Amino acid sequence: MVISVEELIRLKKDKIELDFSENIESIVYNDDVYKLASPLSITGTISTTKQGIYIDSNVDYTIVAPCSRCLKDVEVPLNYDVQGFLVEEEDFREDEFEDLDAFFYNGSDIELVELISQTLDFNLPTKVLCNESCKGLCYTCGADLNINECSCNKDTNDEEHIDPRLAKLKDLFNKE
Ligand SMILES: [Zn+2]
Ligand SMILES: [Zn+2]
Repeated sequence: MVISVEELIRLKKDKIELDFSENIESIVYNDDVYKLASPLSITGTISTTKQGIYIDSNVDYTIVAPCSRCLKDVEVPLNYDVQGFLVEEEDFREDEFEDLDAFFYNGSDIELVELISQTLDFNLPTKVLCNESCKGLCYTCGADLNINECSCNKDTNDEEHIDPRLAKLKDLFNKE
């Protein structure tokens, strides 16, 4: 999934078709590693315009991310458009691209996987859930409440289980 910029310019084609599908183990964004549960597919075009190299594409892949409540692995299918100018990082001038999307590449090749990883952040759902009704983990004992109810809530009045900080409060109330 590599596009050679040199070749793009040498061929003097103003448009090339993208149609890739590749098995990739994981995709990295910042320091987060997301395992892929499907091939990474990209279709669309890369064109050379007066303003620079422009990508107009659609990507499709499934990542594995932890459920926000119970931390269990969840497969998250993603499908979205990637459109913007491809700019060599050192050539980037913010004012030139102010309202336009720009993606960076380094050297003479455009690494599509690397480009797609730059788009992961704003296309990830804000909350990943294994199930809308996921009960999550108990804050006190860490038990997965989807599997079994723990006894934390029932025993809150039990002297043995009560949090020492709360016990002081309880004493306070008793005095009054
Ligand atoms: Zn869950
Ligand atoms: Zn518990």
